[in-house]
Amino acid sequence: MQQSDNYAILTLLRFIQHEERNEIMSKLAINGGRPLRNVKANPWPRWPVWDKKEEKGLLEVLKSGVWSYNGPKEKQFNKTFAKFIGAEYAISAANGTVTLQLALEACGIGLGDEVIVPGLTWQATAASVLDVNAAAVLVDVKPDNWCIDPTEVEKAITPRTKAIIPVHLYGCFTDMDAIMAIARKHNLRVIEDCAHKHGGERNGKKAGSIGDVGSFSFQLSKLMTAGEGGALTTSDPELFEKLDALRNCGRRPEKEESADKGAGLYGSEGDFIQSGNYRITDFQAALLIESLKRLPEHNRIRGKNAKYLNSLLAERPGVQPMKNDKTEVLGACYNFSFRYNKDEFKGLDVAKFREALAKELGCSVEASYEPLNACSLYTPHTKPQRHKLSEEYWQAIDPARFELPVCHRIYKEESVCFHHSVLMGPKADMDLIVNAIEKIYDNAEELLETVRQS
Ligand SMILES: *Cc1c(COP(=O)(O)O)cnc(C)c1O
Repeated sequence: MQQSDNYAILTLLRFIQHEERNEIMSKLAINGGRPLRNVKANPWPRWPVWDKKEEKGLLEVLKSGVWSYNGPKEKQFNKTFAKFIGAEYAISAANGTVTLQLALEACGIGLGDEVIVPGLTWQATAASVLDVNAAAVLVDVKPDNWCIDPTEVEKAITPRTKAIIPVHLYGCFTDMDAIMAIARKHNLRVIEDCAHKHGGERNGKKAGSIGDVGSFSFQLSKLMTAGEGGALTTSDPELFEKLDALRNCGRRPEKEESADKGAGLYGSEGDFIQSGNYRITDFQAALLIESLKRLPEHNRIRGKNAKYLNSLLAERPGVQPMKNDKTEVLGACYNFSFRYNKDEFKGLDVAKFREALAKELGCSVEASYEPLNACSLYTPHTKPQRHKLSEEYWQAIDPARFELPVCHRIYKEESVCFHHSVLMGPKADMDLIVNAIEKIYDNAEELLETVRQS
């Protein structure tokens, strides 16, 4: 054999070895390996969902000229939504932030009052309390379902406490039996923040039908959407009258709605209360009518997938499904979340794990909300001040005075969250998620090596 042939073979061998090493070096998609899912060929389910029915509804509103102000679509939606939730009344409004504010106002909460909210939630839950000049008291959540911890609620009660805002967070439901028992004992109002729980239920009762008022968001990412929008539910006629007036510049409710059920908030004809415009448009209501029709089937599909995925996660090391009561409807989950334990992944940080998972699957994988005592979007002390505040109030609303160790552990070490649309495809998608977790588990050393090098 010629010398040059030998050289060529040697070079080829070296090349093959190098390629093999490369293959091993970059198994994980985050390091340039091939992702488990080719999202171009096989995209995740799209959100929002719409077809000709939404188009038709929107055109009807357009052509009618009744684009807003207690329009026919708004009335129809309010009626069907109330019935669906299992409440006497539903009132739609501009978004799921002002609904919380209006609920607090209708409950008579304001200056000098304290409202207990969970430390792990979207900032609006606490910000709405500031909007009515009350103090948001942040309490810790339960490690196994990330919802407000009733024991912590009880500890936080003072003579100034007037209400609790439990949030049914992501895939879990607050222990409302415990919350309602505490509320009755201390004569507190309960406003359920149901922004994640359209159609979710526990013990046969739907979110938004248990507390004094339920507050819903129809923002684009939520389980039902009109781009923006919100709704309030209640079975208390007096609260209904106030809520309806508050969302409509303080005007008394229209006669046909309040004549038989109204509790007489107003003394004589012509009395009004101070408020602003928080109304919804009939375009939004047209979308919501269709969204509500789709919801039960969407929840059913998500529920089936969530149950299956939870059963797979329960078998795997280093990951743990959320704890749900057996009566909970799993499909009403704004996010699907699970808990991560880095000790079982050779110490691999959860942020890196989420990043690697996102790269394998080609979808977004997020942390939980930032705990509200250290949240970039919950900064009550922003200047300039809107109102002149007493030193006492200024201190009462300081988020840094609350301790939320469980919220911080969830946020920094445990949380892995998927948008609910990821659960709207076939069962095989759930298998793929678990395959991706397994792939990261098997190649944790490779990932740790790249972390060490960077
Ligand atoms: C989305 C959300 C809100 C606010 O709803 P918007 O319609 O976006 O104003 C309130 N609370 C929670 C928990 C939410 O997720």
